[in-house]
Amino acid sequence: MKVLVAIKRVVDFNVKVRVKADNSGVDLANVKMALNPFCEIAVEEAVRLKEQGMASEIVVVSVGPSTAQEQLRTALALGADRAILIEAADDLSSLAVAKLLKALVDKEQPQLVILGKQAIDSDNNQTGQMLAALSGYAQGTFASKVEITGDKLRVTREVDGGLQTVALNLPAIVTTDLRLNEPRYASLPNIMKAKKKPLDTVTPQALGVNTACTVTTLKVEAPASRSAGIKVKSVAELVEKLKNEAKVI
Ligand code: AMP
Repeated sequence: MKVLVAIKRVVDFNVKVRVKADNSGVDLANVKMALNPFCEIAVEEAVRLKEQGMASEIVVVSVGPSTAQEQLRTALALGADRAILIEAADDLSSLAVAKLLKALVDKEQPQLVILGKQAIDSDNNQTGQMLAALSGYAQGTFASKVEITGDKLRVTREVDGGLQTVALNLPAIVTTDLRLNEPRYASLPNIMKAKKKPLDTVTPQALGVNTACTVTTLKVEAPASRSAGIKVKSVAELVEKLKNEAKVI
């Protein structure tokens, strides 16, 4: 079974992002970039499926500028077999990314496609669902457990207030939630080996996909800064302030 994993290069989750002065977006100059955490979980799940003998090949793909090769190499060091960079601007809409991934799915014919549930930069939570609609594949989103038996997939989904288990026919699309697994760290020998693994580059034109944007970002703003809190000396003082100052009780 061939597994395709879509990974995105995003601002590292430890970075405190700054909004550009003209409110056109987030300032990415000299900012540490990393593999989107949910995509790391997606790679880990594919690697575990290969270790269990369920997957035969893991192909990782990223849509973005040439710098996204860094994250593809990280995925190769974590255990993927080969990588594909679809070289494009880094501000494509989810629909454009989903169309590009659909074109690659047609070419590569994977039995399973794993994506993160969301990219932590745009928080769109759309690409996996759009890819499922475009490709006609079954989808199991927000997965916290994935089990494969024959040509069937059981996905336990994290839904509001509980868990839902769905059965899907392969080929299928899975998007990962936080509790699916704990990703491993890449070892130094594997980082060295990853440098020699194949990494191909294709363009949207070669895939026959029009990536014209259907959504325009009008404005990006930082959240309003919160005023500092205070420490109270006793429960009585807290109750008095909640009653008379905040007027919430
Ligand atoms: P989003 O819908 O943007 O929140 O992203 C959800 C998931 O779609 C991510 O975790 C990735 O697996 C995939 N994805 C989104 N954008 C890209 C991209 N530019 N390249 C590769 N995969 C992507």
